[in-house]
Amino acid sequence: MAMTGSELRQRFLDYFARHGHTVVRSSPLVPAHDPTLLFTNAGMVQFKSVFLGEESRDYKRAATAQKCVRAGGKHNDLENVGRTARHHTFFEMLGNFSFGDYFKEDAIKFCWELLTGELGLPKDRLKATVFTDDDDAFALWKTVAGLSGDRILRLGEKDNFWAMGDTGPCGPCSEVHFHQGDHIPCAEEQAGRKCLGPACDCDRWLEIWNLVFMQFNRDASGKMTPLPKPSIDTGMGLERIAAVMQGKSSNYDTDLLWPLISHVERLSAKRYGAEAEHDVSMRVIADHARAATFLITDGVMPSNEWRGYVLRRIMRRAMRHGRMLGLMEPFLWDVTKTVVEILGGAYPEIVEAQSRVATAVRQEEEHFAEALDRGTAKIRDYLELHAKDAGKIVAGKFLFTLYDTHGFPTDLAKEVFEDAGWSVPPEAMQQFEAEMEAQRERARAGASFGGATDGEASVEIYRQLSAQLPKPEFLGYTQMATPARILAMVAGGRRLTEADQGQTVEVILDRTPAYAESGGQMGDTGAIIGRDGQGVIEDTYYRGGQMIVHRVRVTGGHLRENQEVAVSVESRRRQGLKLHHTGTHLLHAALRRILGTHVAQAGSLVAPDHLRFDFSHGMAVKDSEVAKVEDLVNEHVQANIVVTPAEMDLDAALQSGAMALFGEKYGDRVRVVRIGDFSTELCGGTHLDATGQIGLFKVVSEGAVASGVRRIEAVTGEAALRHVGQEEAALRESAGLLKIPPLELPQRLQKLLDEQKQLEKQLRDLEARVAKSRAQELAASAKMVAGVPVLSARLDGLDAEGLRSVMDTLRERMGSGVICLGSSMDGKVTLVASVSKDLTKRIQAGKLVQEMAPLVGGKGGGRPDLAQGGGTDASRLDEALARVPVLIERTGAV
Ligand SMILES: [Zn+2]
Ligand SMILES: [Zn+2]
Repeated sequence: MAMTGSELRQRFLDYFARHGHTVVRSSPLVPAHDPTLLFTNAGMVQFKSVFLGEESRDYKRAATAQKCVRAGGKHNDLENVGRTARHHTFFEMLGNFSFGDYFKEDAIKFCWELLTGELGLPKDRLKATVFTDDDDAFALWKTVAGLSGDRILRLGEKDNFWAMGDTGPCGPCSEVHFHQGDHIPCAEEQAGRKCLGPACDCDRWLEIWNLVFMQFNRDASGKMTPLPKPSIDTGMGLERIAAVMQGKSSNYDTDLLWPLISHVERLSAKRYGAEAEHDVSMRVIADHARAATFLITDGVMPSNEWRGYVLRRIMRRAMRHGRMLGLMEPFLWDVTKTVVEILGGAYPEIVEAQSRVATAVRQEEEHFAEALDRGTAKIRDYLELHAKDAGKIVAGKFLFTLYDTHGFPTDLAKEVFEDAGWSVPPEAMQQFEAEMEAQRERARAGASFGGATDGEASVEIYRQLSAQLPKPEFLGYTQMATPARILAMVAGGRRLTEADQGQTVEVILDRTPAYAESGGQMGDTGAIIGRDGQGVIEDTYYRGGQMIVHRVRVTGGHLRENQEVAVSVESRRRQGLKLHHTGTHLLHAALRRILGTHVAQAGSLVAPDHLRFDFSHGMAVKDSEVAKVEDLVNEHVQANIVVTPAEMDLDAALQSGAMALFGEKYGDRVRVVRIGDFSTELCGGTHLDATGQIGLFKVVSEGAVASGVRRIEAVTGEAALRHVGQEEAALRESAGLLKIPPLELPQRLQKLLDEQKQLEKQLRDLEARVAKSRAQELAASAKMVAGVPVLSARLDGLDAEGLRSVMDTLRERMGSGVICLGSSMDGKVTLVASVSKDLTKRIQAGKLVQEMAPLVGGKGGGRPDLAQGGGTDASRLDEALARVPVLIERTGAV
């Protein structure tokens, strides 16, 4: 069996550990120190400040298996993913790093030894590339690796020179390429030219490892000076090397991705390899399920804002491809389980987050299904309406309508049109942009917020602002008010220099006491007052990653950019938020003690007057368990334990047993909130000084939200007292009605219920007795017809069962004879008939009912001795019953 992806990852890390490297865990996909970077996209991201010399670590050599996401940007167009053997949104990057320690010689030695020794790749299938004038590297490949000169290619700046940015560390690279074989298609050759080997875009020579020699520092004028301590940064895509080691020509055929394709095969009942377009869809789903699982685990949620927006695009693209495979019901959430099976061993955080991920994905699928159905129907209408159009060119205005009123993503619309053979030319996109701009203008005039159209414009402006402005300072752990300066104001996706009374704008300050919504805790409200005007802070949240934004309604005068203002937080509301946040931590800890440590937070809302906590738990929670949880929380409230927040290193925090929670973006320095020995969580929220301030903790409800996920709603402090007060009032009122003390209610109610049961039984007995005596009367009214006792009667208000029960009594009483009963009840007519066995040769009950039922507008039938029917016309019931003697008369006398 070829080496599995997991073995490869481990072999790589073990090799470098043996060679003096510290194995560092993968950093989260949301970069902690770089607010302008969308997602962690390479192994070096977490070491950026070390390379820049701004930070030092207690190691000089490191190795990582880094989770990476690349989505968007010119090098990784989302649309390519799934269409090729190697594009991914999510992938793992293996890398070794030297921070001013070893340089080119050892980097090449390690690389060669690992590939040819440890992994056993044949030397004659490997070639190296170096930067044009990097003679050192060229010579080292000869001496260290023993490569002949014709197996070392010199390439230009485009391929083999790396820079961190326009300025800063940079240097030449060297790549190792593996020969997959000349049977692999090559575009150059198909165009009648020669394959360029390792320099070619084709897959015949596959780049497997890139070594970056950080050698220079480039200044603003472009001048490069040698770094005093050159460094090494390398990267090898795990999926690629796995494909090489497993002899597969596509990454999707390796054990890192194949189980996902199989999963989609099972769900869709389609076979991979049968149809090219279906294969694309399966690869798209396999790739995007990985990205969604890891991004949600690291705290990104699908939304219309920046990172959330990118995640939403990825998820929605997978969902659309699911539909192309006939998967009309939510399915992606199920595929995430296989992601956890494959990668949970290397990344335990996805195991912990499993149910939270599945829930979030499922919700997004349900959400999207609606938008997609609406939008697809609109596109179909459009295609039909414009079927005769020459050129088949989509109008930008229509794309805008789709997006604006139906929430249908433009990139998806574009794909749908292109799949249908239509084109979306640049002019259409310009028209779309113009409509968007007009919409922004309208939004600005109307100062509206939160609409779907705010999404893309907002994403763009905050991307710019996060790059231009300093990160606002948050003072709200200790201060409730502060002087500050307005750095920028935004409305309708545009920057404003001034906002007037009546307008609503998003305000960015250099410092603020207001907490921006995160980690489940709602944003603060408050006030902002300047020399020429003031406004109400209606909400506070993050935009563009780490930009704290206040939504402010200007209530008087004007607010201006660069103005000095006083900002304050509404303290009563904040106090409520603190009560419920600390209460949430106590609840989380109590749940883990009472139900078990498998309980993991799946979602959380901290509001000023209540809290909601979703958690993974595979079964219903018993009332007695809820009571125990509540008691345990209240015990810790009464003990008045001091709440101590502290900043520390992530590793130290995790070692101390802190639970890493959903929504918290953690870097190397994290905030840990500890409540005695009872609870330790990574948390950026605002908390009480001591638990006693909670006063009382009360669970209001407990139930299921999704399979394996339960939800508890609870209240604390004043809200808890209010809740108890309301319950007590209801109790007192009930007791008042019964004129007893409240505590006697359960006993008394039980007694009343017992009495009611007794009474109901008596009533039924009585009814049975009445029916019996009625039957007696009826039996006496039987008439002789053609020598047969015949009873035909109407008993309104009885259903079929009631009629049959009366009929049974009558049969006993009469012995030989014919009985026909009819009843009208609630607009329905019921007929029953019985004929004693001695008469069934002559008269059949079934026939009688068959004759009668049509009169009441229905039908019926049955056995010769017993039959039933019905209808809807009660006005002719008497007539139907009167028919019975006539029908029997016809059969003649005995
Ligand atoms: Zn080629
Ligand atoms: Zn918290």
